[in-house]
Amino acid sequence: MSHPGASGAPGCPHVSELYASVPRTCLPIVYHPDYNITFMGLEKLHPFDAGKWGKVINFLKEEQFLTDDNIVEAREAAEEDLLIVHTKRYLNRLKWSFVVATITEIPPLLFLPNFLVQRKVLRPLRTQTGGTIMAGKLAVERGWAINVGGGFHHCSSDRGGGFCAYADITLAIKFLFERVEGISRATIIDLDAHQGNGHERDFMEDRRVFIMDMYNRYIYPRDGYAKQAINRKVELDWGTEDSEYLQKVELHSEGALNEIRPDIIIYNAGTDILDGDPLGGLSISPQGIVKRDELVFRAAKRRNIPILMVTSGGYQKKTARIIADSILNLHRQGMIEAESLEGEVSSSLVTGMMRHSGNAASNVV
Ligand SMILES: [Zn+2]
Repeated sequence: MSHPGASGAPGCPHVSELYASVPRTCLPIVYHPDYNITFMGLEKLHPFDAGKWGKVINFLKEEQFLTDDNIVEAREAAEEDLLIVHTKRYLNRLKWSFVVATITEIPPLLFLPNFLVQRKVLRPLRTQTGGTIMAGKLAVERGWAINVGGGFHHCSSDRGGGFCAYADITLAIKFLFERVEGISRATIIDLDAHQGNGHERDFMEDRRVFIMDMYNRYIYPRDGYAKQAINRKVELDWGTEDSEYLQKVELHSEGALNEIRPDIIIYNAGTDILDGDPLGGLSISPQGIVKRDELVFRAAKRRNIPILMVTSGGYQKKTARIIADSILNLHRQGMIEAESLEGEVSSSLVTGMMRHSGNAASNVV
């Protein structure tokens, strides 16, 4: 669907604050306290730990991996940014509280005036979405980046669902395709327990994007139409355990990257595969999740392909600790370091970016 002002004139992307330059002293880890959803205890009505993102950051600070000074502060995605992917019609629908109540599965939102829904629920989700877009550029510059939130893989251009109101993965990829020279192929490795039907619907006809998706075949969303967009589909049964799971992660992430070499990997690292998750229905241990993330980062690093990780689903009380442990493990294993990628790809990108940034006084790239 076309909509005026969605992407500006051809070859001339709109001015966005999300591609502002970031000091080299920062680690490419993106976060903002606004990620967390807190509102008069309303968040407790949801089976989610709606403060998990802040807890991840606190654990990483306790371990002295992060400080307030070396983290990248996410910015809220503006309407113009969202229009790169979303239809105006869809964004207008979010101005109805009952629509947001349905998408986020928080029924009491139905009774709140929309300005409160915007401020308390949609703004956190828009800030996480901005974080994913920012992390896309950082991943290309540094070889890796992690958005501590994001991963709203059930949302597509004109449809939300399953707590996902904005299509951050699609947005991050489209921003890169439009704004960063040398990025024309992406691979999504989606290892959340649920099928990633949002990005699948968005990239259904787009051969530049290769999608690997591994999920519990029996749970939400069971979107048969979206499955047609999956290039490497791995359907799991109830209660799948570590050994089988990790073997499949390694086999298929290596296989996917051998099949097509992308310029960027978007890794949707949902933790709802954890044993005991009320929604995921799989039986992966905390150590299994840490190992899984390491396998995916190793596959990217071995090939020198930039990787962007988002944290997606998984909201048990113990989830934040596991995500923090996994990030610390990636650091210990030498998978995430402060230096940028070596080689021809990154140098040509830097040239492209410098050329773009000369165009305007703003921070747009
Ligand atoms: Zn999920």
